[in-house]
Amino acid sequence: MSHQSLLSAEGDIYQMLSDMGHEQLVFCSDEKTGLKAIIGIHNTVLGPALGGTRFWSYASEKDAIVDVLRLSRGMTFKSAISGLNLGGGKAVIIGNSDKLKNREPLFRRYGKFVESLNGKYITAEDVGTSTSDIEFIGMETGHVAGKPEQLGGGGDPSPVTAYGTYLGMKAARKFRDGTDSLEGQRVMVQGAGHVGFYLVERLVKEGAKVMVSDINNDRLKKLTDAFQVEVVAADAVYDQQMDIYAPCALGATVNDDTISKLSCGIIAGAANNQLKEEHKHGEALVQRNITYAPDFLINAGGVINCYVELEGYNRERAYQKAEIIYQRTIDILELAAAEDLTPQAAAIRMAQERIQAVAAMNAVM
Ligand code: NAD
Repeated sequence: MSHQSLLSAEGDIYQMLSDMGHEQLVFCSDEKTGLKAIIGIHNTVLGPALGGTRFWSYASEKDAIVDVLRLSRGMTFKSAISGLNLGGGKAVIIGNSDKLKNREPLFRRYGKFVESLNGKYITAEDVGTSTSDIEFIGMETGHVAGKPEQLGGGGDPSPVTAYGTYLGMKAARKFRDGTDSLEGQRVMVQGAGHVGFYLVERLVKEGAKVMVSDINNDRLKKLTDAFQVEVVAADAVYDQQMDIYAPCALGATVNDDTISKLSCGIIAGAANNQLKEEHKHGEALVQRNITYAPDFLINAGGVINCYVELEGYNRERAYQKAEIIYQRTIDILELAAAEDLTPQAAAIRMAQERIQAVAAMNAVM
């Protein structure tokens, strides 16, 4: 790259940092291990920036930068709205995770970079990284969460995430219909993975009529062996008669193509970034009188589990802390209705207000 193009790329990066309100972007490079990582620290007003490390083969370095900026900003709001004393951060490692066979050197080297930030950034598992990768990182730094249970960590966060999602769903029902019972409600759970499984368990127990869809037959079988549910083909999800749609697979499933088909009154699921375009599709749901429980709040069980791990892990405490999701969802839906906002915008506003209040408090102390 010439100096000129390098400069113009830098110019773009500072503009992005300023537009999105980031504090710091850390580029980590190590030729010996092939490590190319970027750590994004969005905001540390509430506490250290916590967020997972994603290992992904990005089409370009700019795509990786945009992703880490977007994801770390999302973590700020997620932790703030959930009442955690954590800031927002995220990291990406550029490369093909499946092709990396000898993982120890790269992840330990990465751990040293995390350590060099002295606790300003705490990492965890994400797409493309596994518990054993986290163990390698943990050999070089204590600033990791999501460790396996045998190492004193919180283990699989999915049961806590599913609990929070279930509470968010009940809260949306309470706001909309005056009762939070899910008995007899037709709930379409898209994705029978880690979270989907535990969510379905709770829904079935409460007497909901559950429909499930997955593209992976093994996952579906595990679920149908355990619970009485109706299986729906992946391409027929949006055409079902349903009261509640619970996206628990991919993001961006609420979009121009699907919104007009959806018959539900409520959308409440665990997937990240469910609205393809936050503002446009959030508005479209309001127009169609569909109550949307903001994803980054109701799927916060995972980060809550990490937070509790930092205090000394206790699963009961993690479930207890996730209970905030119920009332917070109601508060956000009420604020959105009162102020003519989308629930997503109301949730972001509430998160920002908490950060500003704590920043103001810190300034006078
Ligand atoms: P997972 O990979 O275990 O499960 C996802 C499931 O979705 C898989 O079984 C996959 O086959 C299925 N799927 C993929 N494409 C599909 C499609 N088109 N139709 C139907 N099913 C499809 O993931 P998970 O841990 O259960 O997480 C689910 C979602 O929740 C993800 O979006 C994740 O980012 C989000 N989330 C998870 C946690 C957590 O604690 N695990 C926390 C916060 C957010």
